[in-house]
Amino acid sequence: MERFEVDILGCGSALPTTKHSLSSQVVNLRDKLFMIDCGEATQLQFRAMKLNFMRLNHIFISHLHGDHCFGLPGLISTLGLLGRTAELHVHAQPDAEKMFRPMLDYFCKELPYPVIFQAFDPKKNALIFEDRTLCVSTIPLKHRVPTAGFLFEEKPKRAHILREMIDFYQVPFSQINAVKDGADFVTPDGQIVANARLTRPADAPQKYAYCSDTSYYEKIIPIIEGVDLLYHDTTFGESEAVRAKQTMHSTAHQAAEIARAANVKKLVLGHFSARYPNENVLLTEAQAIFPNTVLAAELTCLKL
Ligand SMILES: [Zn+2]
Ligand SMILES: [Zn+2]
Repeated sequence: MERFEVDILGCGSALPTTKHSLSSQVVNLRDKLFMIDCGEATQLQFRAMKLNFMRLNHIFISHLHGDHCFGLPGLISTLGLLGRTAELHVHAQPDAEKMFRPMLDYFCKELPYPVIFQAFDPKKNALIFEDRTLCVSTIPLKHRVPTAGFLFEEKPKRAHILREMIDFYQVPFSQINAVKDGADFVTPDGQIVANARLTRPADAPQKYAYCSDTSYYEKIIPIIEGVDLLYHDTTFGESEAVRAKQTMHSTAHQAAEIARAANVKKLVLGHFSARYPNENVLLTEAQAIFPNTVLAAELTCLKL
């Protein structure tokens, strides 16, 4: 299986503690790195995970609460000190550029690379990034300020060739790509070899959904239906359900209800309130509804 993993840099909520860092993670798709959220000190966690700064070209910011974006100016400044020349794209709602551009103009006058803010509408479920292998779209969420999660979807992959059959029929190198794309092979004496004899089906494309700060919000269910991995706001346990509602966050119970309704394969809980010295209480509450649930933890890697 080709590499598709999520590195957890921080999974605490607004108040940093010695246990948890602020929200940030990196989606690593075949060594292309995509950062989601950038709380304060994210760059230190990035270094601690031994990730390569030069492979990071896109940062997605879910919303403009400090615990999700205060790390941005520091990271951008450091990338300049490291001699970056490639463009860096920051995908965020329109106010992000209004907030951060003056800061960059003041503190990073000599920045040797361009920072390009790409605005999206957090109220819409829309495609905001696409390359040869991946699509990223927004997941509108329900929080105190405009907020979007992100759905990372691999594009359909090509079939695997069966090397022994390719050798047996002496398929020339020039036709391998066509075979991978589904073409039959015609031998020099006119015999048609069906594609199914030459290939085995491609791996199913994988999907990851990041649902940052949000109240319980059923409208996301069709968008995240069937994802391989769902990260969902789990700031509180059931005993704090009233507080969760007031602050527009979710409980473990609610995150698990969403995971179950959306038929996701695995749920990872995160954005933990500092009030829990041990989040096993959250895990137990969620697993009662959705057994395939795990707790996020800093400096760990979740493989899809
Ligand atoms: Zn937050
Ligand atoms: Zn927030």
